[in-house]
Amino acid sequence: MTNRGSASNAILGAIAGTICFWVAISPTFAQQRIPHDPAEPQQGLPHPKLLPRPTGAIARQSVDEKSMRALIDQLVSCGTRLSLSSWTDPKRGIGCGRDHIVARLNEIAKDSGGKLQIVVDKFESTSERTGGKPVPLESVYAILPGSDPKFAKTLFIVSGHYDSIPSFPSDIMKPEIDAPGADDDASGVSVSVESARLVSKAAANGKSANRATLLFAAIPGEEQGLLGGYHLLDWAKQQGYTIGGMLDDDIVGADPAPGAPHRVRLFSGSGEIDDCDSPGRELARAIEEIDGRESIRMVFRVDRYGRGGDHYPFYKAGLPAVRFTEPLEDYNHEHQTPRTENGIEYGDRAKYLNATFLGDVARDNAEALRQLAMAPAPPTNAKLTGAVTPDAKVFWSAEDDPERAGFEILWRETTEARWQVYDFAESPGQTVLHGVSTDNHFFAVRSVGKNGARSIAVPTETERRPPPQPTGTKQ
Ligand SMILES: [Zn+2]
Repeated sequence: MTNRGSASNAILGAIAGTICFWVAISPTFAQQRIPHDPAEPQQGLPHPKLLPRPTGAIARQSVDEKSMRALIDQLVSCGTRLSLSSWTDPKRGIGCGRDHIVARLNEIAKDSGGKLQIVVDKFESTSERTGGKPVPLESVYAILPGSDPKFAKTLFIVSGHYDSIPSFPSDIMKPEIDAPGADDDASGVSVSVESARLVSKAAANGKSANRATLLFAAIPGEEQGLLGGYHLLDWAKQQGYTIGGMLDDDIVGADPAPGAPHRVRLFSGSGEIDDCDSPGRELARAIEEIDGRESIRMVFRVDRYGRGGDHYPFYKAGLPAVRFTEPLEDYNHEHQTPRTENGIEYGDRAKYLNATFLGDVARDNAEALRQLAMAPAPPTNAKLTGAVTPDAKVFWSAEDDPERAGFEILWRETTEARWQVYDFAESPGQTVLHGVSTDNHFFAVRSVGKNGARSIAVPTETERRPPPQPTGTKQ
């Protein structure tokens, strides 16, 4: 065996050597491998010195997987958390779920030195799935106020929904049927709650103080028509908040495919402006940069095909909102009344969850929130001019901020998914990109704090100049 192995290796080595040699000398291969476009800019790229990312990253081992699992088990023990079930029975129904979440958040708030504030927000909502009648609902929020008065009214949200549902569509209004909802979405609630613990702990050590306000939400009514999500958006507006970003975690607990843990999927919609990106897409890119490509699988669509979640109301309002979801869903374990049929087990039970994967998702959410809430405000009014000239001109505005180091001007090939830093500028206003065409790249600007935290990118708007059109045509 050994001899044969060595012989094959020798042959493989010889083949590899031949291929390398051939690639090196072959003009056909060289053309395929090296893009052959005019250098842009001709004089070479700028080499700005970039600030490193903030120190004090939340360590993966600081995630408390045991407490996350304990909260999920408590939520499952409520039998059902259908939004139409009891709000007052401490043993069964959605009120039981609320009680467990509030209790866990109170523990975390105590450890935060009283910084974390717990709010139970009661409201009513109506949809087809409430039978057209208004039903009472209660959202649970843990709020970590921003340390910088300038940004205390900017809000970064992480949210999971704590209602559950049995089989769809037959049983969606039946509180008497069990709906454990371990993955959908006790998992997302556990991520939101654990993020509250991790981020408030990081903020307490001083270095990671959140300039903006953070809201860790557990909301009801998702399965009844995103009732908690729509209400959260209204609530934030009523409180006078600007939404800095909204991270929805929905179905983030299972990872059944071989080779787990895998990357979590991060969905972001494309927006409605030509040649531009939605704020949600920019938030997704920012999260991928913070957590790394080995952790985040960006998916460039608003949600799974034909499905929705609580980020949707925010996305439709033009706000930066994204959805985290596990890598490969098992539809026998979602929206299914627990039962066994023809030897197949149905139902959303905690035993199908993967603690390592779930812990990864919590860490990725918490670190993204930590860095985003430390960053200066994104620039405003970003514009691109200079069409039909040799130079692209990028303009943007920004309010004064003594904690800001400056701005990164970003660009990317129109076919590329990710931004690259083109240059750095200390002040807002106009920067001329000498020898750069307006036509071959997309451009954006983001703010950089002295602490290294980046805002989400703001793509430049282009002047809308349609080509000349005929004013009359003879048929
Ligand atoms: Zn869900």
